[in-house]
Amino acid sequence: MPATVVGVRQVTDKEKLFTISLDNGKNIKHRPCQFVIVSISGVGEAPISISSPPTDSGKVIELCVRSVGNLTGAMHRLSVNDKIGIRGPFGNGFPIEKIEGRDILIVAGGLGLAPLRSLIKYVNNERKRYRRFILLIGARRPADILFKEEVTKWDEDPGIETHIIVDAAEPPWNKNVGVITGLFKYIDIDPLKTVAAIVGPPVMYRFVIRELLAKGIFEGNIFLDLERRMRCGLGKCGHCQINGIYLCQNGPVLSYLEAKKLQEAL
Ligand SMILES: Cc1cc2nc3c(=O)[nH]c(=O)nc-3n(C[C@H](O)[C@H](O)[C@H](O)COP(=O)(O)OP(=O)(O)OC[C@H]3O[C@@H](n4cnc5c(N)ncnc54)[C@H](O)[C@@H]3O)c2cc1C
Repeated sequence: MPATVVGVRQVTDKEKLFTISLDNGKNIKHRPCQFVIVSISGVGEAPISISSPPTDSGKVIELCVRSVGNLTGAMHRLSVNDKIGIRGPFGNGFPIEKIEGRDILIVAGGLGLAPLRSLIKYVNNERKRYRRFILLIGARRPADILFKEEVTKWDEDPGIETHIIVDAAEPPWNKNVGVITGLFKYIDIDPLKTVAAIVGPPVMYRFVIRELLAKGIFEGNIFLDLERRMRCGLGKCGHCQINGIYLCQNGPVLSYLEAKKLQEAL
């Protein structure tokens, strides 16, 4: 689908937030944690998560992009009114029906806040349908925290139990310093009522999952966003296939129970 860049904002020194409007004027109708495949003529394609929630104005989507290679580098050179291609939305997205009436614990590390922002804003917009809302956010340095103004609002919101940590900081930083697992000592959860969503760098998953299991959360109630290399988004090319599962369609969100079975099969 041809689309137009209608906004570009630098969110950190490495990431930009793009507001994109489809040229056919249609609503993209996505679920939190689904992704699109962005193409730029003469450059190529790459999967990018939709960072905006489905409950915001459906006419535009927001994509938070870190410049790491060909496509993302070309995106960082885009300006308002430039044209790109959008395919999607793809993937299963977060199982929002499973969290209705439950306590939700979101663990976002680094760029993981990009896809999780769609879920955080969705839950916040539909707050009455959920019980406790706990948000753990980690970044390397204070300057690397994505969506700082929104994070500050979530932190000040009495309806969200927000804890923020950075790996390293200097004054005037007055919050936690250390790795994200250091935040688990501050939260007391009811494991039978809690559903957790985790997105972050690969190294984070093992340690966060260990903490969640230690708190007694059922493996089927821990959801991970597995952002493996993907190409077509249609379950055809096999790039993201593991043991009959096409992560571009059956994922990228899997419960830890499902993800563990895949890992055992490898
Ligand atoms: C479901 C999903 C959602 C995603 N959401 C986001 C998002 O919201 N925001 C975001 O910024 N990113 C996101 N990504 C990651 C993004 O798609 C990748 O970083 C993608 O590779 C970027 O494409 P590129 O053309 O810019 O980079 P590429 O040119 O493909 O390079 C990416 C990285 O891989 C390295 N690389 C490239 N080719 C090779 C090779 N042959 N061997 C070894 N290393 C190589 C490059 O040096 C670079 O570090 C997502 C990925 C998935 C699967």
